[in-house]
Amino acid sequence: MAKKIAIIEDEPELSSLIEYNLARQGFSTLILAGSKGAMAELETYKPDLVILDIMLPDGDGFDLCRSIRRHTALGRVPIIFLTARSDEVDRVLGLEIGGDDYVTKPFSPRELIARVKAHLRRGESETEPEVAATVKRGPFTLDRAAHRVFLHEGELPLTSTEFRLLEFFLTHPGRAYSREQLLGEVWGEQHFVTPRTVDVHIRRLRERIEEQPDTPRFLTTVRGFGYRFEAPQA
Ligand code: CA
Repeated sequence: MAKKIAIIEDEPELSSLIEYNLARQGFSTLILAGSKGAMAELETYKPDLVILDIMLPDGDGFDLCRSIRRHTALGRVPIIFLTARSDEVDRVLGLEIGGDDYVTKPFSPRELIARVKAHLRRGESETEPEVAATVKRGPFTLDRAAHRVFLHEGELPLTSTEFRLLEFFLTHPGRAYSREQLLGEVWGEQHFVTPRTVDVHIRRLRERIEEQPDTPRFLTTVRGFGYRFEAPQA
């Protein structure tokens, strides 16, 4: 079945350009021109990925991103932001509120499609049958099939990037990894991400899993190098 991509963008020329290029690659698409009513549309459509413009006429894409992340069924869908504002703050903010990626306007459709495919591939590789369905480490239980993580009994609300990052740490405990190594292991061949991206996601992940994010117990900083996941005992 064709993968479904929701395009939330108020500029008709841009949304139809994106739609045209996605359709040529065999994707199904839904175009929404604003954030009003978008949640209901997305609930019905159940997209495999969302392309989300930040500047919408009736609200901003960040708010919509938050609503998607809070939604039980949609929560972990990959979100790629489209932004006309290229300064770092907006980019970082986009990632901090739960976006998985961003593309700065103007962009080439080819570049956007490549990222769409990369995010969809990553989702698929997580369900490969030869990989153990469940990872248990200390108080953490990660269920790959259901794409859920529990700390003790409580479920952690993670974005797909946070999920992959925690999955990597849970399966590679006790070793130090540099930001560059983490980029290679978790983000793969997306060369547009920078080491700073790693820091942003580490900070967010700490807020999810640590009682005191500033003095982390599980996910520690290896000064001058990177990060290490301390092997927790049950
Ligand atoms: Ca716009």
